[in-house]
Amino acid sequence: MAAPAPMDKVKDIEYTNWLKVTLALYYMKSGLHTFIQSEIDQLHQSLVKKIYGGPSVPLSPCTMCDASHVVRNKHSGVWTFPKQCSSYCDVWLYELLKLHTNPKSEKIYWNNSHVSSWPFKPWECAKVFMPRGQTPSNAGPAECDAQALLTLLTCCTHFHHKLSQQGQGLTHKISSMRNKVIHNGEMKVCDADRSNYLQEMIQMLEDPVNLKSLEGCKDAVGNIRKVHDCIAC
Ligand SMILES: [Zn+2]
Repeated sequence: MAAPAPMDKVKDIEYTNWLKVTLALYYMKSGLHTFIQSEIDQLHQSLVKKIYGGPSVPLSPCTMCDASHVVRNKHSGVWTFPKQCSSYCDVWLYELLKLHTNPKSEKIYWNNSHVSSWPFKPWECAKVFMPRGQTPSNAGPAECDAQALLTLLTCCTHFHHKLSQQGQGLTHKISSMRNKVIHNGEMKVCDADRSNYLQEMIQMLEDPVNLKSLEGCKDAVGNIRKVHDCIAC
């Protein structure tokens, strides 16, 4: 079947629903930026203290270790650095794995981050918990797409204490929804799904443990409601 003409597609209500859901995902992830950056900074400070016994980090980055050196034992599934270095890269690896929901998974993408930056750049540690394909230009939450941030929230156990049980469930649900919507070849969402998806994003941003009171989340909720009610779209 031939693709619809541009004006027909633009007027297709299910296509505008698809646009509304993707736009709401953008607002949702924007609303989470400040919270996620702040949490990652705090987590990093606690790791520095734990690994070096105080607030000090090495004077210069490790020149010996690289993400490509991290190996996974095929039988036990345990990830290790075969060599030890004076910057404690192997200890960083161990501590980051302790925070991973599935530390023996094959799908931990060390190449997402610069190992030598772990002691200095909190965001390089966060990238260990993201889907593959993160680049050096991803230097903070604003450079991530919604899926990268949702995967961080679900795979890094630090965040599990920062959301209610319902909020944790919603991050999984929204992550699956996002994949379904983005990979929909027709770029269509029905009215009922659009309402449910937007409502779930609002519910997640209004999680009572930490998110509901944050200005960024309140703004995001307001913008998602406007997307929902947008008559012109
Ligand atoms: Zn090293």
